[in-house]
Amino acid sequence: MKIAIIGGGVAAFEAAKNIRSLSDEAEVTIYSREAVPPYRRPALSRMAAEELADAQFYIKPASFYAENRIGLELGRTLCAIDTKTKTLTFDSGVPAHYDRLLLATGSHCFYPPVPGMDLDGVMSLREYADLQKLRARLDAGVKRAAVIGGGLLGLELAQSLLERGCTVTVIEGSSLLLPRNLDEEAAGVVLKRLAGIDNLTLRFGCSVKEVAGKDGRAVGVTLADGTCEADLVMVSAGVRANIEVAAAAGIPCNRGIVADSCLRTGVAEIYAAGDCAEVAGASYGLYDAARSMGSVAARNLLGEEQPFVSQAYPARLSVFGVKLFSAGKLAGARSETTQDAAAGTFRKLFYDDSNRLIGCILVGDLREAVKLQSQIIPVRERA
Ligand SMILES: Cc1cc2nc3c(=O)[nH]c(=O)nc-3n(C[C@H](O)[C@H](O)[C@H](O)COP(=O)(O)OP(=O)(O)OC[C@H]3O[C@@H](n4cnc5c(N)ncnc54)[C@H](O)[C@@H]3O)c2cc1C
Repeated sequence: MKIAIIGGGVAAFEAAKNIRSLSDEAEVTIYSREAVPPYRRPALSRMAAEELADAQFYIKPASFYAENRIGLELGRTLCAIDTKTKTLTFDSGVPAHYDRLLLATGSHCFYPPVPGMDLDGVMSLREYADLQKLRARLDAGVKRAAVIGGGLLGLELAQSLLERGCTVTVIEGSSLLLPRNLDEEAAGVVLKRLAGIDNLTLRFGCSVKEVAGKDGRAVGVTLADGTCEADLVMVSAGVRANIEVAAAAGIPCNRGIVADSCLRTGVAEIYAAGDCAEVAGASYGLYDAARSMGSVAARNLLGEEQPFVSQAYPARLSVFGVKLFSAGKLAGARSETTQDAAAGTFRKLFYDDSNRLIGCILVGDLREAVKLQSQIIPVRERA
């Protein structure tokens, strides 16, 4: 049986690895439009400032694929799927046949629909090729940067840009810091720790009107209430699933490629996993969820019937000397806060009306993170 996997991310890698460990016979090939083997995508933000060893960056060395008889076709962009003849068309013009297909095409950065997003100097960081472009800009001496989007990724990126010698303005539409990962009280605590960092300006509750340009190059960002000068504008304002090729092939798509709990799409023999998939109505956009879907997809591609079970995926961040962890639901019938301002620690636990732990936020001291995460009541068990 020929299994084709589209995408060079963690979902694709996990699927291929698990297929090989479960079946000696299946022929499995990863087709990725990227020029490099699957790597730990979250490391891209750090890589803007520092070189990581290959062992830290790549999920496995290149030799792993040959040793495990996993075909790895790099620089191959899937352009079309003929679901009747089970034929894949790539930009190279060389087609491929599949018996079963896994779409693990991930997502792309969303660019807010305002003027100037096409100017030279406006970019995002999603793939290895983006990292190379960003590094080239920084090597060329860019010094004033704006980051549109103050989420986890935006803050990580801001730190790397500061370390590369830029002055950085982070522009966030929400009036709160990290609204998906912190509640108001915790956001206030973290914000105090981030205030006063040299060359870093955080602007909240700001809407971007346009990226201003001169001679085709970005020179700043115009906000509803002012401007900020920038030769480099990094867009980190959320992601959208890569669904275009699937949709054009008639595979039902919504925000993502629609899949049931066993990751089956609406077309026989075609599965979806990771950021590109909308599983039982939910999209995740998280590394651990994509990894877990990849291994579940492997079993289903081989004919088993194993559902993907979602968990309370935590958020972790370590920027500007502040470590934070949050998991579960960040509001409840009751909460309990302890903090030590001198030590820079904060801990907030959220309980439901039966006094069961449903979420937590830790700042500064994360030693309890794993224990608390394991105690959080899964969503399906909540009343
Ligand atoms: C800078 C950065 C930091 C992040 N930090 C975190 C974090 O701290 N925690 C966390 O949980 N998540 C984080 N994420 C998100 C996480 O990386 C993703 O959720 C995860 O990588 C999704 O894995 P995936 O395999 O579904 O897709 P992806 O990793 O996006 O891989 C998709 C692959 O498909 C390829 N592809 C797309 N279309 C085609 C096509 N037509 N033909 C061939 N190949 C194609 C792409 O080139 C890519 O290689 C971060 C993401 C980024 C970019």
